[in-house]
Parts: sequence; C-alpha cells; structure tokens
Amino acid sequence: MNITKQKGTKDIMFKEVNYWQKFESVIKEVCDSHNFSEIRVPTFEATELFSRSVGDGTDIVTKEMYTFKDRGDRSITLRPEFTAGVVRAYVENGLSSRPSPVKLWYAGPVFRYEKMQKGRYREFRQFGVEIFGSSSYLADIESITVAKEILEKLGIYDDLKLKINSIGCKECRAKYIETLREYLKDKIDNMCDDCKVRYEKNIMRIIDCKEDLEVKKEMPMITDYLCEDCKKDFENLQNGLKNLGIEYEIDKKIVRGLDYYNKAVFEFASKDLDLSVGGGGRYDLLVDMLGGAKTPATGFAFGMDRIVLLLEEKGMSIDKRPDIFFIASNGDAYFKASILQNKLRKMGLITDIDICERSFSSQMKYASKINARFVIIIGEDEIKNNIVTIKNLDTGNQFTADFDASVIMKSIEIM
Ligand code: AMP
Repeated sequence: MNITKQKGTKDIMFKEVNYWQKFESVIKEVCDSHNFSEIRVPTFEATELFSRSVGDGTDIVTKEMYTFKDRGDRSITLRPEFTAGVVRAYVENGLSSRPSPVKLWYAGPVFRYEKMQKGRYREFRQFGVEIFGSSSYLADIESITVAKEILEKLGIYDDLKLKINSIGCKECRAKYIETLREYLKDKIDNMCDDCKVRYEKNIMRIIDCKEDLEVKKEMPMITDYLCEDCKKDFENLQNGLKNLGIEYEIDKKIVRGLDYYNKAVFEFASKDLDLSVGGGGRYDLLVDMLGGAKTPATGFAFGMDRIVLLLEEKGMSIDKRPDIFFIASNGDAYFKASILQNKLRKMGLITDIDICERSFSSQMKYASKINARFVIIIGEDEIKNNIVTIKNLDTGNQFTADFDASVIMKSIEIM
C-alpha cells in the first residue's frame, strides 16, 4: 500500500505555491518597511512553555497539542503557535537589552490536532508580529497597520473586517470574572459540556462559544467593567484607528482563545464567511510569566492558509510562465543553446531547455504544455548560419535572429 500524507497536512505546489511565495514576499516587504526584524524560533519546545503561557484551560493545551517524549524522556511539543516561543527567545537571548521597543516578525508552520474541515488543518502556517517594550496604544496601532498594509498589498483588505474589543487588565478582569461567575452560577448546569469545563478553567471562553445563545443575551460583558485606565486605552485605540482611516467594529464577544491576552484584542474576519483569518492583542503579563522582567507586549498572528484560500477564491493571477523554451536538435546544439540560455537567464528571463534528449516534436509539445511564451529552435541549419529560429507560441509568428542574446532580447520585446 502506498504511504499517503497525514490527515490535516497538505502538499503545497505549482499554482498554489505561487500564492504562498507572493504572500511571503509581501510580508517581508511590509515588515522590512516598518523596521521589524525576522525571528526564526524552533519548531519544538518544552511542553511546559505552552502549558504555562497558552494556558492549561485552553483547547490548544487540553486537546490539540502534538506532545511526545523524546529519547531523553523530555516532554516535547510541536509549537501550536508562535508567541510563546518568541517570548521564550526574547527572555533567553536577553533581547530586553536591545533598543526598545523590539519589533519582530515570524512566519512558519504550527501544529494543532484539530477536526479537519475547509480552512482547518493540523499542520498550518502562521505569520505574525510581536512588539516588546511599549505599553502605548500606538504599538497596537502599529501592529494593526502592518496587518492592514499586507492585506491591502494582497488585494483582500476590503474583503475583511477588523473587530476590536478590550478584555481589561488583571484588576478589572478579576472583578468582571466574579460577576460573570455569579451570573452563570445557576445556569451552567444547562449549558454545553465544553462550557461546563470552561466555567471552572477558563470562564471568559464561554463568551465566544456558539452554543446556548439565549442564556448569553443577558450576560455581563467585560467592556462594561473596564477600569478608568483600560477605558482610556480603549478610547485612544479607537481614536487612533479613526485618525488613520482604519475601519473597525467593536465586538464584545472577542475574548481570544489564549490565556495570555489583556487590554486590546482584535480579529480580522472575512466579511462573507465571518471566518477569522487572524487576530491578536496585548499580552503585558507574559514576558514576566516566562521568567523575564515585566515587559509590555503586543502582537498578532494570521493563519496563512486561510489567506491563501481567499487569494485563490479571488482568482488573483500570479501564474509564473517561462519566457523561453529552447529546442535543440542534438548534443552540439544543446551545448550551444545552453550558452545562450545562461546569458538570457542573467538578463532576467525565465528559460528552460530539454534535458531528456527528446524528438523535435516532443520538445515542441512540452513547450506548449508548460505554457512558454517563446521557443528558440537551434538545429543544424541554425548552427551553420549562426542564427536562431524564434517562435511566439501565443501568436504562431516565427522568424530568425542572430545568435546573440541582446539581439534576441530585442526581437522578443518587439514581437
Ligand atoms: P489563533 O492562534 O488560534 O488565534 O489563530 C490565529 C489564526 O490562525 C486564526 O485566525 C486562523 O486564521 C488560523 N488558524 C487557527 N487554527 C487553524 C487551523 N487549524 N487551520 C488553519 N488555520 C488556523
């Protein structure tokens, strides 16, 4: 029996990989232009890193992590998200001694054991940014602006909406949680099984659960319990977004799945499907929790696979096409052709050549299958006369040119 790929993984190739490459180049371009530096953290970490930061009561830690013992009997986990690893790296490498704020971006695969469906995989890719050292709302705006610019450059910003909320600081959240616990006390027995667990372990997650909506209509919301500081911060954030012309809506149900968030949280969701493509927020307590000095921090993570799905659905055209396929009649012609091919490649063209010693007609068929714009034919007559025959495969036009890269380049431009 053939070995097939694991559930929830995918092979990314050909047309789809062009979308990924485009996406990755836009991420790099925008992050560079905002003076963020890339960080590449390990794919696996000590399990404790995630249970401590993401939170023992979260779905990720309780149900979704790929955890195993290595041969040295250590508990290892494939990263289910990046922030914990980036914070670990920040603390371990003493990045707090660098000029503050430290602005980092990342992109790569993450692993969660989840139920498979469209846009939901077990190995998927995230990109994101983290900003360490600023408690100002301006840092939240900086990270939202980076996200916005990337989405704009990809042509999908208008298909998405930005939803924001504040989940308060440690103090006002503690008061709110007390009120929420009291409100749910005599209702929780009739709620879904997941929420019963959440009631004990991660009560705010009850807010974004899609079950028992009737009970939730009257539920107290954190935004009504914010302290003066958190209220002011949230207003500043909104005014900042307005000043920059960034549209948003307040969604009181956004609490984010992970324990480490506080204050501003946000999500980008597709307008059509209401499917979250990314989100983030402030996590001022995490660096401290993972052994560093108290350091305010904010950031976001986007699901890259979901954005690529959007790009595909929009039919963004980014197919790569070879400019020239060389057809050589025999070994000598092949070696002459490859000299020319090298020169044209250095001049920036995408070129290809037969490496199977096939017949003229098979080479011609191949050139048209790979959708080359031109073929350059080098046979005995061409070698004798020091010329090449060029055929435009779109129009069928055919003509000869000197065996000279610059002449060929010019003739291709005028065809
Ligand atoms: P989270 O780290 O859970 O906040 O997720 C951030 C983003 O990653 C989400 O908005 C999704 O776009 C994406 N994402 C989360 N889980 C999956 C998954 N299983 N498959 C594909 N993308 C995902």
